[in-house]
Amino acid sequence: MISTAADMRKALKGSSPRFTGVILYEGRSAIDGGPIVVIANRIAHASGNEKTGAMVQTFIIRQDVRPLEALATGLDKSICGGCIHRPANGGTCYVNVGRSVESVYGAYTRGRYARPGKDYDASILPDLFEGSVFRLGTYGDPAAAPFRIWANATAKVKARTGYTHQWKRKAFEAFKSICMASVDSPRDLALARAMGWRSFRVRAKDAATIEGEVICPASKEAGQKTTCEACKACGGLSAKARADIVIMAHGPTGGRFT
Ligand code: SF4
Repeated sequence: MISTAADMRKALKGSSPRFTGVILYEGRSAIDGGPIVVIANRIAHASGNEKTGAMVQTFIIRQDVRPLEALATGLDKSICGGCIHRPANGGTCYVNVGRSVESVYGAYTRGRYARPGKDYDASILPDLFEGSVFRLGTYGDPAAAPFRIWANATAKVKARTGYTHQWKRKAFEAFKSICMASVDSPRDLALARAMGWRSFRVRAKDAATIEGEVICPASKEAGQKTTCEACKACGGLSAKARADIVIMAHGPTGGRFT
């Protein structure tokens, strides 16, 4: 079993045993009890994602079915809850599930991700991610997995970004320290503020911004001035930034958001 962060970095760079990333959690979804897995990758290499920059990427997916099948059958509720951007709810999610998420799931089924307690000692995670900018939920809602998993993995990171649609539920209150409340209307923005959350709001094309909101500087409408890695604003209450963030609906189905 790998017992140091240095040895894990070697394994992620190609030494034997070779892994593509690490599993952070396998178990029940805190949203609906379905079987889920949380995977972290892009640990030793820069991410190719233009908007985020070089960040550790994490995927929260159903353990038992392919991501596209989960979308088609509604089983993705375990990892996205009642998010209005799910295809089952009308479909404006910006993540390209058919490409990146399916590829992560395929690698998971082929045993390419190191398992805690079997392939590596989970106590190395704070050191493994030390100094990184860590994205909670490249796909999936971070609140589907226990808060302690994220708190441990990000204990020594430089910064983190994360978004949750579960912010209205008291059981997920701890996440306000590391995640933004994903809000979809001015009314929800006001409610999230009253509940002590910082917010990330998706607005319809050409809808107005609201006082106290800043347009995401990596967005097309702001001229794609920076990346999440450099900006780091979306880390909930633990980020230095205090403003709420707003962005115009985007991605393959963004035009359907009203
Ligand atoms: S506000 Fe900053 S951290 Fe948040 S999504 Fe935009 S670039 Fe990323």
